[in-house]
Amino acid sequence: MCHLWIEAHPEVSYKTDKRVIKQLSKLLKSEPSLADFFYNYIEKLTHQQQLQTKHLVQVFQRQQNQQALRKAYELIEILVEERTAELLKSNMLLKQEIKERHSAQARLVNIAFHDALTGLPNRMQFMERLKQTAERAKSYGNLFAVLFLDLDRFKVVNDSLGHTIGDQLLVALAHRLQTGLRSGDILARLGGDEFAILLEEIQGIKDVIDIAERLQQQLAIPFHLSGYEVFSTVSIGIALSTTRDDQVENLLRDADTAMYRAKALGKAGYKIFDTAMYAQATELMQLEIDLQHAIEHQEFIIHYQPIILLETYKVIGFEALVRWQHPQQGFVSPDKFIPIAEETGLIVPIGYWVMREACRQLRAWQEQFPTNPPLTISVNISTKQFSQPDLIGQIRQILQETGVEGRSLKLEITESAIMENTESATAMLLHLQQMNVQLHLDDFGTGYSSLSYLHRFPTNALKIDRSFVMNIGVNGENLEIVQAIITLAHSLNLDVVAEGVETVEQLAQLSLYKCKYAQGYFFSKPLNSKLASTLIASELNFESN
Ligand code: C2E
Ligand code: CA
Ligand code: CA
Repeated sequence: MCHLWIEAHPEVSYKTDKRVIKQLSKLLKSEPSLADFFYNYIEKLTHQQQLQTKHLVQVFQRQQNQQALRKAYELIEILVEERTAELLKSNMLLKQEIKERHSAQARLVNIAFHDALTGLPNRMQFMERLKQTAERAKSYGNLFAVLFLDLDRFKVVNDSLGHTIGDQLLVALAHRLQTGLRSGDILARLGGDEFAILLEEIQGIKDVIDIAERLQQQLAIPFHLSGYEVFSTVSIGIALSTTRDDQVENLLRDADTAMYRAKALGKAGYKIFDTAMYAQATELMQLEIDLQHAIEHQEFIIHYQPIILLETYKVIGFEALVRWQHPQQGFVSPDKFIPIAEETGLIVPIGYWVMREACRQLRAWQEQFPTNPPLTISVNISTKQFSQPDLIGQIRQILQETGVEGRSLKLEITESAIMENTESATAMLLHLQQMNVQLHLDDFGTGYSSLSYLHRFPTNALKIDRSFVMNIGVNGENLEIVQAIITLAHSLNLDVVAEGVETVEQLAQLSLYKCKYAQGYFFSKPLNSKLASTLIASELNFESN
């Protein structure tokens, strides 16, 4: 048996001479129980040897790799030097150039990680540091927090005092924030008037609140900038590392969500991201995903709300209003999903789908129910859509495809959509005018209400927002606004459409002021295409009888 395992273990046999084997055999014959012990011992020994060998091989390989790498670097350096020297024979300026290139590279790296205006770390560096902190926290279990800061009314400072003072404010503010932090904390400028702070190693939420309150106190003192006394407050959103255990990137997003909440509750406050907000945020994220799915699976339909000419009380056309039939949640209101679609850009494909489908339906109605003038369709255009450079081309194509005339299409655009695209707006609107497409200013009175552009932009009608129409008859205040809008429209030679008309009192007042068109539950709710067809047919029947 002794021979057997010596044969099975050649690694020990080379130091084992025949004499030892003989003695061993003898020993085992007199004491057979030793066989097991001996066998186990050898097993253990060989296992350890194997591990050691493996380790040695690994170390060796690593060393070889490093050596090879080092050699390669050395070789490259020699080659570069040789080549440079060679070129310097030919050009002395080259040396300077190379030097400059090196410092430019260093500057580039610096730029990539810093904000140019304030010199603070930028978003990229902040995310990098955040990841590192999260890694450390995973190993040591320490707590950290992210603060999202957004200036209140920065736009007002910029608009009234100019961009130079605006920039000065950001620099001064960055400086003041920095002095309010502990040495290990990181302050970054994310862009615009948004800043972020990473608080490493905190004991608990109280530390974070103390810091947030201290920062806000420091900002209560006015800034003196180029002779102006500027007041500035910030809204702060706080996210603690404990609220999430998934991707650390989401912490900044959570802090942003909390910041918005702080802003909504009044400026100059702070808000801590909590589980309720988390649930809302995930619901929103899910809705985003579902919305993408909805486009692919055509879960949208259009409802049509009739628009009435008040002189004759006849339906002259419809407003197309999109509806989303969610497979699980059922009907989702456009007030809920249009803002998400707008934010994610999904509004662009949705918007074109609505326009194409609405125009196709209109053409079918125009053929089935010929009237003079032909029925019209009003389609809502969101801000994002209005900024699409190929909007005109798309509209032209849809009109061509569906056979709808430009004059039958009314685009409803909000004042803010125009104000946010002032540069491209004029050219775009002139193009539309050339195509005879009508332009209606939606939600009029709720936006910027900058009257000067009404002259500049070719508009056909103002649509009085339903929030004004709603309170006619309840108090006199809105009545005056409605009257003012109608008077303004008349003096500019524009038509007026009142939306959200629900009562006979509202209708009476609007007729009194000579409002031309109206729309609202008083006449009809938005209808599906079949019911809308029935409505048109019954009107025509009524006429012929
Ligand atoms: P909007 O353009 O101001 O549309 C009018 C909204 O008022 C519609 O809500 C309509 O159903 C509702 N409404 C009409 N008459 C009455 C009334 O008498 N009383 C009350 N309380 N409400 C009335 P809806 O359909 O929920 O749409 C909400 C908003 O969603 C729209 O406001 C519009 O901004 C947006 N939207 C709807 N469809 C589209 C679309 O296809 N594209 C874009 N970009 N936005 C759309
Ligand atoms: Ca509208
Ligand atoms: Ca409206």
